[in-house]
Amino acid sequence: MPTPGLDGYTEPWRKPEHDDLAELARTFFTKEVVPHAGRLGKQGHPDREHYLRAGELGLLGLSVPEQYGGGGGDFTHEAVLLHEQTLAGEGSLGLAVHSGIVTGYLNEYGTEDQKQRWLPGLCSGELIGAIAMTEPDGGSDVQAIRTRAVRDGDDYLVSGSKTFITNGYLADLLVLAVKTDQSAKAHGISLIVCELTDGAPGFRRGRNLEKIGLHANDTAELFFDEFRVPAGNLLGTENAGFFQLMQQLPQERLVIGVGAVAAMQRAVELATAYAKDRTAFGKPLIGHQNTRMVLSDCATRTRVSRIFVDDCITRHTRNELDVATAAMAKLYLTEGQCEVVDRCLQIFGGYGYTTEYPIATMYADARVQKIYGGTNEIMKELIARVL
Ligand SMILES: Cc1cc2nc3c(=O)[nH]c(=O)nc-3n(C[C@H](O)[C@H](O)[C@H](O)COP(=O)(O)OP(=O)(O)OC[C@H]3O[C@@H](n4cnc5c(N)ncnc54)[C@H](O)[C@@H]3O)c2cc1C
Repeated sequence: MPTPGLDGYTEPWRKPEHDDLAELARTFFTKEVVPHAGRLGKQGHPDREHYLRAGELGLLGLSVPEQYGGGGGDFTHEAVLLHEQTLAGEGSLGLAVHSGIVTGYLNEYGTEDQKQRWLPGLCSGELIGAIAMTEPDGGSDVQAIRTRAVRDGDDYLVSGSKTFITNGYLADLLVLAVKTDQSAKAHGISLIVCELTDGAPGFRRGRNLEKIGLHANDTAELFFDEFRVPAGNLLGTENAGFFQLMQQLPQERLVIGVGAVAAMQRAVELATAYAKDRTAFGKPLIGHQNTRMVLSDCATRTRVSRIFVDDCITRHTRNELDVATAAMAKLYLTEGQCEVVDRCLQIFGGYGYTTEYPIATMYADARVQKIYGGTNEIMKELIARVL
């Protein structure tokens, strides 16, 4: 579908291979997953078969080197996949976390043995990945986490709880932030990889949380009580976890920004089509000046956002995306998404408030973008540090 106000714009990093990937992803999402959206929303989590199918098509781990079963690409390929998922209105598969974040940690900090053990399963869809930092007592202050890992022979014994974990209801492989030195704050955090099996002693999944949006994607609580994890599952070195998180969070925030821009684009497309079709006072909505003004504002915001996100993507592929710029992207793009989706919903009148129309789902789904990945208040703190 042509994108209003965006025709003729091509991402500076785009090559023909990205077009092929976009086509493959679009077909998969629209033909194989979106038709199940109603059922998936009711069950509260995606189908494992859809992860496996995505893996079969080569859509998982696009930036993972080929020797570990990945696509051998870079972040631009992940961005195309996430963009197409949002444009297609597919919200069940937690690909932003599974491929966009978890594989990145393993790629960057995993030993050769760890990469060979876990990356092929993530790329085939046999393993579903998640990352857990947030705890019931607080998410913004990561240094204050209390889940602890105590060394016991060749293992760690992990105790504590995590909440709001994307993919947590189905996850098989979890990058877990723990305290390995209780007396320290940032310098006491480590990342360990947990292989999650239901019924394993010391591990329990809690509720799959009921949310106001993202109904088809699981967000769960996880509990650990002296859960035994081999010491060899430590990612990188002990007590380096906080710095590993700080290095990877810009990519997580960029992933959120990519989704935000795609959502803005979709909202403008849907609202423009509706405004051309629906009549009021004897003419199409788009014939009323206010509708044209709103759509012009939204299309402009979308285009500017797209150029900003592309600049961030280019910087990131050169390893030059700094913390403050990534925070600006997350802040600006998610605020833009919420505003654009809200204004586009208004064009639908009462129909925009019914779940029959995708714009309603988009409105509910958008809200969390300002919360996870570090709240937008925390983004402002990060930006202020470089002013
Ligand atoms: C759907 C969903 C999916 C998620 N997925 C994951 C996941 O996969 N993994 C994971 O680890 N976490 C995940 N989260 C958790 C998310 O990252 C946290 O909710 C978020 O970081 C905020 O933490 P909190 O909820 O504990 O809020 P709090 O930290 O309690 O903050 C509450 C409010 O206070 C504000 N605040 C806090 N500190 C400051 C400050 N210094 N200055 C100004 N304001 C401040 C915050 O901005 C917020 O508005 C997810 C959350 C949701 C809702």
